[in-house]
Amino acid sequence: MLQQSRRAVLLVLAALLVAAPARADDKLKVVASISIIGDFVKNVGGDRVEVATLVGPNSDAHIFSPTPTDAKTLGAAKIVFVNGMGLEGWMTRLAAASGAKVAPIVVTTGVKPRQEEDGHHAVDPHAWQSIANAKIYVANIRDGLKKADPAGAAAYDANAKAYLDRLDALEHEVRDTLGKIPPGRRKIITTHDAFGYFGRAYGVQFIAPSGVSADSEPSARDIAKIIAQVKRQNIPAVFLENVSDPRLMQQIARETGAKIGGTLYSDALSEPSGPAATYVEMMRNNLGELAKALAP
Ligand SMILES: [Zn+2]
Repeated sequence: MLQQSRRAVLLVLAALLVAAPARADDKLKVVASISIIGDFVKNVGGDRVEVATLVGPNSDAHIFSPTPTDAKTLGAAKIVFVNGMGLEGWMTRLAAASGAKVAPIVVTTGVKPRQEEDGHHAVDPHAWQSIANAKIYVANIRDGLKKADPAGAAAYDANAKAYLDRLDALEHEVRDTLGKIPPGRRKIITTHDAFGYFGRAYGVQFIAPSGVSADSEPSARDIAKIIAQVKRQNIPAVFLENVSDPRLMQQIARETGAKIGGTLYSDALSEPSGPAATYVEMMRNNLGELAKALAP
């Protein structure tokens, strides 16, 4: 009798062990350099991975300065994903400081790089702004996870397949929506320099205001230059996020007839409660803002 009940207890324990969900300690510790790559990893890794992102939502990867906590996070990672193309200039030093045991996987491997148009001939790192490129990121992430955690291969394949299907649907949505805007109207003035891949993929011109610094608040003289350029190039919409004085934006709208656009997300996702908490939401947000501003 005693023997039997002991056996029953053991069976129950065994069943509990099988049914128990993976504890955080059992999960594959993954570090992503930026929030957009972190979102891809979450979609492909599902509940097998624990993702930490170094450059968080609403933060700038170009001017990121890592903390000792970031070094610790990186040092504990079993796998690290970076964009490459010169985006994470801080990574080499951080990796050395962290004692990281793994070499970062560059998720843009296989992406056709685009040269920046400012005459410096540097590679434009914002490749994720083309959904076709995002699919290459996702495939590289899937393959990296499978290599680091072969037991999860089937799960990573299935998750990646489902997410790639969503990206296909998203790309159709972008092409359909922008396709309704006459080609001659698909141009905006913006100080964002992150939409080169988007523009090339979907036929939208993102034009920098000429002779105006993108880094500081434009002066009255800069605003006059922008107004002249909008009129000269017949530009239907203006997205200028470094102009904090709404009266200047109203002045541009009044004097040119151009529409003033809302917020475009380029390098980082928003906070979870914001309009761009995931890559798919970010692309939909930008598409909605562009379509609204460019509609005839
Ligand atoms: Zn950028």
